[in-house]
Amino acid sequence: MNFRIYNTMTRQKELFRPLKEGEAGIYTCGPTVYHYAHIGNMRSYIAEDGLVRALRFLGWKVKRVMNITDVGHLVSDADTGEDKMEVGARREGKSAWDIAKFYTEAFFRDYYALGCAKPDVICPATDYIQEMVDLGLALEKKGFTYPIAGDGVYFDVSKLPDYGKLAGKAHIDGIKEGARVEAVAGKRHPADFAIWKFAAIGEKRQMEWDSPWGRGFPGWHMECSAMAMKHLGDTIDVHCGGEDHVAVHHTNEIAQSEGATGKPFSNYWMHVRFLVTGDEGKMSKSAGEFLTLESVTKRGYDPLSYRYYCLQTHYRKQLEFSWEGVEASARGLDGLRALARKVKTEAGAPAELDKGAKPYLDFTAALADDVNLPAALAVLWETLKDGSVPAAQRLAFAQAAEEVTALDLFRAEAAGELASEFMAMIKDREAARKARDWKKSDELRKALSDKGVLIEDTPSGTKWKLTRG
Ligand code: AMP
Ligand code: ZN
Repeated sequence: MNFRIYNTMTRQKELFRPLKEGEAGIYTCGPTVYHYAHIGNMRSYIAEDGLVRALRFLGWKVKRVMNITDVGHLVSDADTGEDKMEVGARREGKSAWDIAKFYTEAFFRDYYALGCAKPDVICPATDYIQEMVDLGLALEKKGFTYPIAGDGVYFDVSKLPDYGKLAGKAHIDGIKEGARVEAVAGKRHPADFAIWKFAAIGEKRQMEWDSPWGRGFPGWHMECSAMAMKHLGDTIDVHCGGEDHVAVHHTNEIAQSEGATGKPFSNYWMHVRFLVTGDEGKMSKSAGEFLTLESVTKRGYDPLSYRYYCLQTHYRKQLEFSWEGVEASARGLDGLRALARKVKTEAGAPAELDKGAKPYLDFTAALADDVNLPAALAVLWETLKDGSVPAAQRLAFAQAAEEVTALDLFRAEAAGELASEFMAMIKDREAARKARDWKKSDELRKALSDKGVLIEDTPSGTKWKLTRG
């Protein structure tokens, strides 16, 4: 099956030609674990999961690597400001290491709740300091770096003729013209970036290591170059991330990797457009105000309703967040599941999947066209509804499609009745509320929510909803 992917590097859809026939090596920039991931971040991971699942469905053997940024991502992209991990540590009065552990776990809880498949390799940056030092040494040997006393070791972008090719020449010229050699005195070019930062004299960082250049920590972009090449080779098939990474992070990853190896770093670049929230424009972790998956589930929505919400918009279109949209998706998903259950009841057992039939062909064609999941979902809807196709065929197709959509299509209906144990808890809570015992009422709400039963107090009484099947 021919798969076409939009490549940010060439700004067109291209036929996907992996390095090794039948295999795909994919690198995804993972979370910076100094805070919860917001639903914007999760849009990117859901889209990237879509790529992985689509390729697997189309027959590729995929190796997917995701890093965890647990050191070195500074508050400013201009190599100044504090390390985000240290910011998190100060905010919460914990060690940077505890912050990393806590938010890595929180990230994967959300990630899996959203139906995303486990990456084949998950690599925290702090486990690869040596690899980053080695990469820095290779760059130094080739004359790409220069030190700035008391600050760090910098990559000299003027030494790489095609520096900035991912973002486009206009962008790099813009940086030149802007000529704000931001804050870092001694940078030769505004776009030069740190590959190693020294720990400030007299200041003890929580995360710092010895290096041939002095004690300190790696520049943020180093981890992705070092780990991608370690796990996938000097050249990889697809590199993914959100659109914000084009201009700086991925541009600098390319500079480091290609500077060191002289080979192309990634053959395809996939970038997910942002989820934006009307008034603020974008979700911002550093501003402290952002929506998380918990904001969604607290309102009684199944995490997979958010997945469905994201899958309905192609990843290269900006997605404007709205609660109305999430509500509509929740209803849509309920409807899709009801249809799937109906077909299953009608069919009893699936027929053998007919890969020559229209639903399968249309579905694969949608996936093969730059992971067009909205179109693939439309095929799923149409097929489930199409009474002219035998139910056993429709069931076989829907079961296969579920490998990609991962929407828990056949989840048992949230029956009209809850298990009596939960009903008793809801009754107890109602009694506690009447008695104005808010503490007990909150405890019961939490106990129910931990078991997957979300409750909502409405004028007509307590309503409940299951968050898992
Ligand atoms: P971070 O944890 O900030 O390093 O970001 C993790 C991933 O989320 C990266 O791929 C970012 O490009 C992506 N990202 C950040 N903000 C958004 C957003 N509003 N919408 C979609 N993706 C985003
Ligand atoms: Zn990265």
